[in-house]
Amino acid sequence: MLQSHYDYIIAGAGCAGLSLLMRILQQNELQQKRILLIDETEKERNDRTWCFWEKEESFFETIVFQSWDKLQFYSDDFSSEFSIAPYSYKMIRGIDFYRHCFAVIRQSPNVDFHKGKIDRLFSDATTGIVTGGKTITADYVFNSILFGKPELKKKDVWLLQHFKGWLVETETPVFNVAAATLMDFRISQKNGTAFCYVLPSSPTEALVEYTLFTPALLQPHEYDEGLENYLRAFLGLKSFTVKESEFGVIPMTNHRFANRHNRIVHIGTAGGQTKGSSGYTFSFIQRHSKQIAENLARQEQPFVAGSPKRFHFYDSVLLQVLDNHLVEGEEIFATMFRKNKPQEVLAFLNNTSSFATELKIISTLPILPFFKAAMRQMM
Ligand SMILES: Cc1cc2nc3c(=O)[nH]c(=O)nc-3n(C[C@H](O)[C@H](O)[C@H](O)COP(=O)(O)OP(=O)(O)OC[C@H]3O[C@@H](n4cnc5c(N)ncnc54)[C@H](O)[C@@H]3O)c2cc1C
Repeated sequence: MLQSHYDYIIAGAGCAGLSLLMRILQQNELQQKRILLIDETEKERNDRTWCFWEKEESFFETIVFQSWDKLQFYSDDFSSEFSIAPYSYKMIRGIDFYRHCFAVIRQSPNVDFHKGKIDRLFSDATTGIVTGGKTITADYVFNSILFGKPELKKKDVWLLQHFKGWLVETETPVFNVAAATLMDFRISQKNGTAFCYVLPSSPTEALVEYTLFTPALLQPHEYDEGLENYLRAFLGLKSFTVKESEFGVIPMTNHRFANRHNRIVHIGTAGGQTKGSSGYTFSFIQRHSKQIAENLARQEQPFVAGSPKRFHFYDSVLLQVLDNHLVEGEEIFATMFRKNKPQEVLAFLNNTSSFATELKIISTLPILPFFKAAMRQMM
């Protein structure tokens, strides 16, 4: 039975909503808080796979499905396999994440889960949600729902990262479980920046994703053709079975998403936690959730600043370069990995690098086009 008021409402039981809830439930000071988690689906599908890198144990270490200490990078001009220690590249399957979190939720008498569509949020004299004609209020709403595309400003770039992945199985051992392929740019770039990545979980099984950074989606059959071609031409597979497939679209944008509206706190992609120039979100959500829960436990306001502002500028410049085809994505990433230590590049892509490292990485990129893009962004 739903209450009419909660301490916290968490809108959306995806990566951000569940990560935040797990962090809140870990805080002794918040054990008595009444929490409503609401989502329009029951999160019973393996709808995505998250990869991320970190040096330490993950908050979700028990459900890490596979991890790698080596990564491979391929392009026409530069290919390499590198050790990324002390980082590990980790993979969590969506279904394991949802099951793990819902097992904890079922043991938590202070949390109600409601399956329902949220029609709108409000925060003026009171704060809350409207679902199925019913209004429920809360002290805070943590929102991970993107209610449509935001209104863009003049310098906002809005590209899409879209991808299709196949979990493929082969009869004979073909995959090297010791290394994941982060990016393989050897495929056709005719539609724009495009690469495949390979996440092997056994010698006969791997998740292979075909990814593009472009303004518009492809036709459904084009993703399948891209995957089929990659598996045959570059991985040399003659026969394989597709056990599962996933499809995703993530905005790649320098648009500044509001991080709050009064007592609504935006989280996840809706709260600007997707890195504009790469689409990676998982690690950013983890950092954000931890800080919000710690603030709540200290009875402080749950508004968190996020990464230093300079990272937004770097993302904007890179997006300008990609959007205006000043340098192609393949060349940018190949140059970054060829001329810098992989650990430095990974820290840079995670917004955790030092300013000195950032200057060093930037100095290795083609100066003129990046300077032009930076000017365009600043003026
Ligand atoms: C297929 C895929 C693979 C990805 N892989 C990676 C990766 O490897 N690494 C990485 O860092 N990032 C990855 N991302 C990006 C990002 O991590 C994910 O999109 C992540 O799930 C974002 O979390 P979120 O909570 O913001 O959104 P979601 O996880 O999408 O959660 C939003 C929730 O809101 C619910 N919802 C939406 N509208 C309503 C409504 N009106 N009422 C009620 N509920 C609603 C949805 O059902 C959903 O459960 C991937 C994204 C996709 C789509």
